[in-house]
Amino acid sequence: MLGIRKRSGCRLIFLNRGAQLAERTGARLPTSSSMETGASETAGKPIKCRAAVCRRAGEPLVMEEIQVDPPKAWEVRIKIVCTSICHTDVTFWKRDSGPFAVFPRILGHEAVGVVESVGDKVEEVKAGDTVLPVFCSNCEKCRDCKSAKGNTCSVFAGRPPGPGMQRDGTGRFRAVKDGEAIHHFLGVSSFSEYTVVDVVHVVKISSPIPLDRACLLSCGVSTGVGGAWKVADVEQGSSVVIFGLGVVGLAVAEGARLRGASKIVGVDLNPDKFELGKKFGVTDFVNPEACGEKPISEVIKEITNGGADYSFECVGLASVTADAFNSSREGGGKTVILGVEAQGAPLSLGSYEILRGRTVVGSLFGGLKPKSDIPLLAQKYLDQELNLDDFITQEVSFQDINQALDLLLQGKSLRCIIWMDK
Ligand code: NAD
Ligand code: ZN
Repeated sequence: MLGIRKRSGCRLIFLNRGAQLAERTGARLPTSSSMETGASETAGKPIKCRAAVCRRAGEPLVMEEIQVDPPKAWEVRIKIVCTSICHTDVTFWKRDSGPFAVFPRILGHEAVGVVESVGDKVEEVKAGDTVLPVFCSNCEKCRDCKSAKGNTCSVFAGRPPGPGMQRDGTGRFRAVKDGEAIHHFLGVSSFSEYTVVDVVHVVKISSPIPLDRACLLSCGVSTGVGGAWKVADVEQGSSVVIFGLGVVGLAVAEGARLRGASKIVGVDLNPDKFELGKKFGVTDFVNPEACGEKPISEVIKEITNGGADYSFECVGLASVTADAFNSSREGGGKTVILGVEAQGAPLSLGSYEILRGRTVVGSLFGGLKPKSDIPLLAQKYLDQELNLDDFITQEVSFQDINQALDLLLQGKSLRCIIWMDK
């Protein structure tokens, strides 16, 4: 058993490429190019394996034996190597009513794995390929996937996040003990040793990036970096304020740092996040609880000389979006909403305030197109530009997944890597 292991601090002085990777990752970590390849012996047959099942909202995940059916046409069965927990998993884990509260369910959508087998019509990947399953669909054929403007696949993204597979709505998971159907989540369900994912949610990774670093690109880090680069398009010398310094918010900081922003203000209720934030370029820190009577937006305006050029909401609260908007600069300030509002609450923004030239935009997956943009981010890591190392704060074995959940809930982790085979 691994127990919880803290990652040691990462060094930023690198030698040559090989030595650098060994230095940063430890030689034992697999990379995408070191995974075995070859045809699968289990292809076409159901697989029995372990999954951490969410049986009831807000209760610890239950380790169970499940059966994973073979992939149908356009589907890929993936052996998960490692996964991590994003706050969106927490949001749906807590939700106890409404159409999205379906149980039992296998959560998890930030992961990396190896293709075990593919269904009919799948040509893009084959058994043995290293892949990221991604909640954001990317058919690459529709008008929106071909457009440079956004990343909302018009064929698949509009379909509600139902409990089964995208194309036919049926499930691929059932409990071995009684045959009960177990629902999917966000097209991924990575808290399982094996999962089945539609090929429009699969990104092939060919570069030799360590797999735990690749895992981060499956959701949170890509969302934040993409938010800074693609959605906001932060430029050199600009001022940025980020509400919520979890992985999404800190990845925004990392993206803004790489673009040369001169001021990156982090806002968080957890004071520990400032020291962490410095590793990603956060220059100033504000705890809203320490602002007294003064509205947080006034404090941000003082620090940024009249309001931030770019303001990011990375918490998931409508009230924080209003604070982010009010902290943006009149006459051009841009507010980017990345947080997922747990209750879907409507936004309240002053009508006169918005007339003063400010814009507000929301984005899933940071406006990135998974299939073409994730390999570019992986390369930026290998080129020593993008800091992924410092997002990994702990690691545990799969059987201890509830410890990883507790760490996130208590604000004690950024990402805890959950290894399936340890
Ligand atoms: P996280 O739990 O790691 O971090 C959230 C941070 O917000 C924590 O540091 C917490 O202390 C801070 N916080 C909480 N309430 C606050 C408040 N009122 N004011 C300031 N800070 C506050 O979460 P994460 O994984 O980084 O995810 C952040 C948000 O982004 C979530 O809402 C998640 O669902 C969402 N998300 C969206 C996308 C997308 O595609 N748009 C992708 C991934 C995650
Ligand atoms: Zn996520």
